[in-house]
Parts: sequence; structure tokens; C-alpha cells
Amino acid sequence: MNNSDYVVDRGRRAMPLQLTGRQLAFREELRAFYTDKVEPGWRERYDSFEDLGAYLRDWEQVLASRDWAVPTWPEEYGGRGADAVERAIFTEETARFDAPEGLNRLGKRLVAPVLWQFGTPEQQQHLARIRTGDELWCQGFSEPSAGSDLVNIRTTAQRVSDEWVINGRKIWTSFAQFADWIILLVRTGPADSRADGISVLLVDLLTPGIEISPIITMSGHAEFNEVSFNDVRVPAANLVGEENAGWSIVRSVLQDERGADYCLARYSDIRRIFDDVVSTARELPAEHRAVAHLGADYARVYAIQVLASDLLERGQNRTAPEGLESLVKLYTTETWRTMGDDQLRWWGAPYFTEGPKERLHDQAESRHFTISAGTSEIQRNLIASRLLELPSGRKKVA
Ligand SMILES: Cc1cc2nc3c(=O)[nH]c(=O)nc-3n(C[C@H](O)[C@H](O)[C@H](O)COP(=O)(O)OP(=O)(O)OC[C@H]3O[C@@H](n4cnc5c(N)ncnc54)[C@H](O)[C@@H]3O)c2cc1C
Repeated sequence: MNNSDYVVDRGRRAMPLQLTGRQLAFREELRAFYTDKVEPGWRERYDSFEDLGAYLRDWEQVLASRDWAVPTWPEEYGGRGADAVERAIFTEETARFDAPEGLNRLGKRLVAPVLWQFGTPEQQQHLARIRTGDELWCQGFSEPSAGSDLVNIRTTAQRVSDEWVINGRKIWTSFAQFADWIILLVRTGPADSRADGISVLLVDLLTPGIEISPIITMSGHAEFNEVSFNDVRVPAANLVGEENAGWSIVRSVLQDERGADYCLARYSDIRRIFDDVVSTARELPAEHRAVAHLGADYARVYAIQVLASDLLERGQNRTAPEGLESLVKLYTTETWRTMGDDQLRWWGAPYFTEGPKERLHDQAESRHFTISAGTSEIQRNLIASRLLELPSGRKKVA
């Protein structure tokens, strides 16, 4: 467990946030659970991504056994109905204890809100299995020619009597090799219908005609996959919401994906990495260039803490202007990337390859987060159009 300054738990350097009795009890129960269950150094024990995946899948069940799988879900669906501060506490304590996140992040954070907002009662039956870790989900949105510009998707679904017949290809599908189901964006309108011809389908990955091909990344692991669909038939009842009205679901998913929980989680990651760098720098002579640079990095880390606190408080009061989450996402993920580049310059590759495993993992993640959940260029466009209210036709950045 590390002792950084976080957003809720501000250590000794900032004004403490006043927590209610319920919030304090939430934190104490979570700390007791993590103290009991998190095995220090768990990452070091797994050489293959498959073994790590199996461990993370089991961890979902450990979380569920003590009611910590989905604390942020509403109580009516089996969650704890955590408020904004409790959500932040959950994120921070998870980082503080370096607890595994599990393997069903997409099911719990992305699919579940879609199901309770737009799903039929039958579709909502998936929620119980997601909560217990018995059903793992992945996200089939991106395609080779449609990532940032999702309205270009070409995977089609045609209605044939009481089924949908799917053909096409998805790419960058995280954890598909471990998943049981996929939430899929498909074109159900004419080829040129863009946002007006998109629908959302729930697809069992064991359906005949689906092929999952892992893609090895620079970390040496196959976190991503390409998933192809050849005449895949799924029941008509697996359509979420109305036919051709899937774009509003996509918008709500994308907004959630980079919201306050996301930003707080990234702040917690950055804080942990920064603390590691500072402890390495303690061994350096005062004139080493890293020492002066760390002052600048600390200014950025501090600014992110303030931004994340602001986002948290505005989230609580529902006063966040549209576009603020893009600003926090951009600044947070770009800072992480800059810090990663600095470490590489100061200490070279051995800092990552010969240190604890998580350093190499964190360095790869510094790239990942400037691309996933909307690239930095897209966030800049969103800040310009939503916060500065500039014309949204200004798509190209200099
Ligand atoms: C770690 C990771 C996990 C992922 N997991 C999943 C997943 O599980 N499921 C899934 O569906 N997808 C996933 N993705 C895909 C991710 O959503 C896309 O990579 C992302 O949306 C960018 O799309 P793209 O790769 O096609 O790049 P493109 O959209 O082709 O962009 C290429 C470059 O052009 C820039 N660009 C594009 N449009 C504009 C514009 N209008 N203005 C200015 N610049 C622009 C981009 O910023 C980028 O630099 C994941 C990606 C990563 C990195």
C-alpha cells in the first residue's frame, strides 16, 4: 500500500476533504477487504498473458464474494449505489493497494450502463452474471477504417426473419480472447447512412462464424484482437434499443468512458508512477538533470490533482460543463506520456526492463491512454467545440 496524496485522501499537504459517516465506513470496509485479499507482487508471478488473464478472471469472483465487484452500480441492479466521492474512494484505494482491476472492466463499466439505460428486461438478465464474474464482455466498436470516426463502420447486420445476420471485421478488441460476449456496433441502414444507420447488438462469442485472432503489441502480449464475423446469426431480440438508433447509445458510452471515474483512475496511476520515480531520484546527485525536471513534473501532477478534484466536485453537483472531461483526459494522459519519455531519457531502457514488471507495463500504458477512449487530437477538437464553442467544422489540428 502506498501513501500518496490523492484526491479524496489528500495526505498531509492539502486541506482534507470532509467525508460523511457512510463514506468513511465505505472506505474502511474496502481497506479491510484489500488488506485481506490483495497478494503483494501478484503481477510478478505471471509470465504469460494467458495465466495473468486466468488470475484476473478469478479475481472477479473474489470481488463478487465480498460485494466489491460493482460498487458503482445502482442498488436495484446489485451494486452499492456509490456516490461520486465513494466512486473516487474506490478508485484511489484500488491504486493505493495496487489491487487488480479484474478482467471484466468493459462488462462492468461500459456494457452494464447500456443495459440498464437501453436494454429490455431479458437483456438486463446479463447484469447478474456480469456482477458475479460469470460472464466476461468485450467492446466491438472500432474497425480498420473506423476508429475515431465511428460513423464509418462497415460491419453489417441484415434482418432475416427473426435473426440478424452479421458480416464484417472489428479490430483492437481488448480481451476478446477471454470474453464470453461482445457488444457490437453494426450498420443496419444503407452504406452511406453514417450515424443514422447504426445499431447495437449483443453477441455470444461462441456463435458459429466468429473468429478471434490475437494481435501482439509492443508489450509482447496479445491484449488486442481482430474479430471477424462471417454470416453470424443472432436472435432479433439481441438488438439494444431501436434499429438504426444506436448512435445515441454510442454517445452515452463514449461520454462515460472518459468521465470522472476514468480521470481519477488515471490520476491514481500517475501518482503511483511519480512516487516511484521520486524514490529512484532520491539516490541521484543533486546536479542530475532528473532532479530539476521532477519539479516540473510535480507541478503537472499537482495540477491534475486539482483538475480531478474539480471534476469530482462538479460531478457530485452535476455542474460539469460538457467538454471538461476531455480537458482532464487530455492533460492527464499527455502528462503520463511526457513523464514516460523523461524517464526513458534519464535512465534508458534498463529502468523499465530491469525494474519491477509494472514499470514496463506502465510505459506501454502511457501510449495506450493517449489513443483509447478518444485520441488526444479528438479531445482537442472536443475542447475547442464544446468548451470554447468554436465551430465544430475545425477538425484538423496544426
Ligand atoms: C489500448 C487500447 C485499447 C482499445 N480497446 C478497444 C476495444 O476494446 N474496443 C474497440 O472497439 N476499440 C478499442 N480501441 C481502439 C480505439 O478506440 C481506437 O484506436 C481509437 O478510437 C483511434 O482510432 P484508430 O486507431 O482507428 O485511429 P484513427 O481514427 O485512424 O486516427 C489516426 C490518427 O488520426 C488522428 N485523427 C483522426 N481523426 C481526426 C480528426 N477529426 N481531427 C484530428 N485528428 C484526427 C487521430 O488522433 C490519430 O492520431 C483500443 C485502443 C487502444 C489503444
